[in-house]
Formats: sequence, structure tokens, C-alpha cells
Amino acid sequence: MTRAISAVKGMNDLLPSEVARWHALESTIRDVVQLHGYREIRVPVIEPTSLYVRSVGEGTDIVDKEMYSFVFHDEPLTVRPEGTAGVVRAYVEHAIHAKEPVSRLYYEGPMFRGERPARGRYRQFHQAGCEVFGDPGPLVDAEMIDMLVGLLRRLKIQNVEVVLNSLGGKGTKARYRERLVEFLEPKKDALSEDSKRRLQTNPLRILDSKDPKDQAVVADAPSILDVIDDDDRAHFDGLRRHLDRLGTPYSIDPRLVRGLDYYTRTLFEVRGQGGELGAQNALAGGGRYDSLVEELGGPATPAIGFAAGLERLLLATAAEPPRAHGPVLVAPLGERAQAEALVLGRELREAGVPTIVEGRGGSLKSMLRRANGLGSPVALVVGDGELDRGVVQLKDLAAHAQNDVPRSELVREVSALLAARAPGGAEGSAG
Ligand code: AMP
Repeated sequence: MTRAISAVKGMNDLLPSEVARWHALESTIRDVVQLHGYREIRVPVIEPTSLYVRSVGEGTDIVDKEMYSFVFHDEPLTVRPEGTAGVVRAYVEHAIHAKEPVSRLYYEGPMFRGERPARGRYRQFHQAGCEVFGDPGPLVDAEMIDMLVGLLRRLKIQNVEVVLNSLGGKGTKARYRERLVEFLEPKKDALSEDSKRRLQTNPLRILDSKDPKDQAVVADAPSILDVIDDDDRAHFDGLRRHLDRLGTPYSIDPRLVRGLDYYTRTLFEVRGQGGELGAQNALAGGGRYDSLVEELGGPATPAIGFAAGLERLLLATAAEPPRAHGPVLVAPLGERAQAEALVLGRELREAGVPTIVEGRGGSLKSMLRRANGLGSPVALVVGDGELDRGVVQLKDLAAHAQNDVPRSELVREVSALLAARAPGGAEGSAG
């Protein structure tokens, strides 16, 4: 046999047996964000490399090490590592700011980062994200965090923890950067090699380094909340007041910086526990990026957004989705019956009943085995005898019962039977 080809490391197939859970998750997310007035935007998965270099920023792990970048006909391109930059590009390119004062947009789809694969960390993964343009907050910041917590509650994810920080605006960020470098410079030798480099390029990143050497050094670092200016402090206090009023619990971590450069002011991360979620417990993260629209060529526009990782949400929700039953199987016995089976299949589908016609022939026993494999609630058997009598044999597989139904009554009878079995139907049950 020829040697088979495997998928790229860190990139997963989602087989049909798993997709039902994805659909349920995606539809819950859609429900929740639409209730909050967000509208979907779909942007390309490939963008000019410069978009990420200018937004996510040089000196970040994403831009320095993780991007799938290539040159195509002299054009440097990157397969998107995150969603916000592309949405901002589209917002500016289509002058959406000129059409509405505030835009609430959401997106969903695959993202690509060349990280070391582990449980909950992949090279192709999926994010759902929301962005609000044109609203400076802090009310909308609180509403967004509360929406996210509400979403996780609806998904029955336990032990959700909201961690909050403020990076301040440009002034605060610059002042803090100086203070941090002053603090770290004398301790430089104790830092990891990566962080020695970051000290020049992106010192804030040292704060969320996973390296124990760095963690020991930054344990006593000055807090950004000590140097934050008055406006930024008032914004942060406002956010906290709104969250307190909503009863949304949070903790403050002045060392939370997260891996992207474009953040200003509000920064948050939502962590979970339980299910099969292991060490990769960050379910969603986001923050304000009040300068990014302008930096990417649009008018000065305050903005805030977050992205949630769908694989991690699924790992955190252990519960099985309600199992939908499979399609009805039409089992023709013999050639004459096959033609009739095709017509019957079409009629059932026209009535909205998912139906598969067994086309491989074979014995009744093997066809019923297939019906069981498909999870069919009903098998419809047609042979010469049935054709002559103008009936079809209806096998109710769940109830282990069977009876002959006149051909003219069949579609109505099958539809009624399935409707009664559906969740919420006359015989419906929760399971
Ligand atoms: P970020 O875009 O880095 O702020 O990440 C937002 C969320 O996306 C995280 O909280 C994770 O849930 C998810 N995420 C980020 N990177 C990965 C990855 N490599 N694999 C799986 N999920 C990820």
C-alpha cells in the first residue's frame, strides 16, 4: 500500500462525530452576541504581513516566532494568527466609521500560530471574537466582560475567573515602560536569554514570561497601577464600579499584560477549570485598543474586543450534547424496489425528514445493521411483496415494533412519529 499522508502537526481534523458539539457551541455564541447587538463580519484568513507587524507588534512571540508567513509573487503575506487586526483593517478600508457612530462586530474562524502543540494549544485553532468601535467605555467594557461571563455560564463552564488590569493610555504605558526598564536593568543577568532581548524591544512582555528565572525577577517589579495617570485611573475605577454593580466577580493582576502590543487601558483574561482543560486554562482574553484604528490609517476611534478559544471552551464543557437521531433508512429488497425507494426518499426529504436510501443491496439483516449504525429511528423496508400490496413495512427501531403502512399514508405517518419523538414532542424526553 502507498504510504498515507498525515495532517500537519498541531492541526486537527474535526470528524463528523465531533461536529455536533461545535455546532451547538457556535450557535450558543451566536445567540449570546446577537442578543447584545453584535453583527457578524467575515474577513480573509490571509492578510498582508505588515498588518500584523504594525498591530500585534514586533517583539511579541506571535510576530517574532509564530506566524505562518510567505511571499507570494513578491507580496509578503501571513495566514492570520488572530482576528482583531483583520477586522480593524476592514473597518478602516470600508470606512465603516463614516456609516455608523458605534459598530459592534463579531467573527469566528480558524487562526494559525506556530506554537508548541499541547492539550488546548494547537497550530490551527478557532476563535470567536467581538469588537466594539467608537465607544470609549468604561460602560461597554463592563458589559463585554459580563457578556463573556454570561456566555460561559450558559455553556455550564464552572469556576470561571476574570482577571483584570489596566495598561493605561500611551502616556501611562511609556512611563511604565521606563520604570520597568529602570527596575530590570540592574537585574539583567538573572533574566532568561529571551527576556534580555525583550528588555530592549518589548520590556512589558517580560512580565508574562513563563520562564521561572524571569518570574523570580519580576515578582517585585513596580505595578503599572502605581504610575497610571488620572484619566486612565478614572476609566479603570469606572469599569470596576460597573462590574461591582453587575455582581460580576473579578480579581486584579497588575502583571497581566498579554501577548499583543496594541492594548491600551482595559485588559482582561477569563480563565476556567475543570472538564478536560489542563494547564491551558485561558478561555478568552481581550482589552481596549484605543490607538489601533488610527495606527492602521483610520480616524482616531476608541475600541475594545476579545477572543475566546473554541477548542478550550469545548475542553471545559465535558457534557455530551443531546444526541440527535440519525436519518431514516429506506431499505429496498430487489431491483424493482430500488426505483420505488428513490422516489420514497425524495418524498420524505421534501417533507423535511432526513433520509438515506441504502443503495448497496444485500440482505435485510445487513441493511438493518446499517440503520442501527446510523442511529436511524425508523427503517422502511420495501420488497416485491410490499410493492404488490401497495404498502411499506415501517420498522420502528426504537420501539422494536413494525407494521405495514399504506404507501399513500407513509410520509405523513413517518413525519408524525418523528415529531412525537423529537425533544419537546408528545413523547419527547430530555435525553
Ligand atoms: P489571544 O488571541 O492570544 O488573546 O487568545 C485568546 C484565546 O484564544 C485564548 O484565551 C485561548 O482560549 C485561545 N488560544 C490562543 N492561542 C491558542 C492556541 N495556540 N491553541 C488553542 N487556543 C488558543
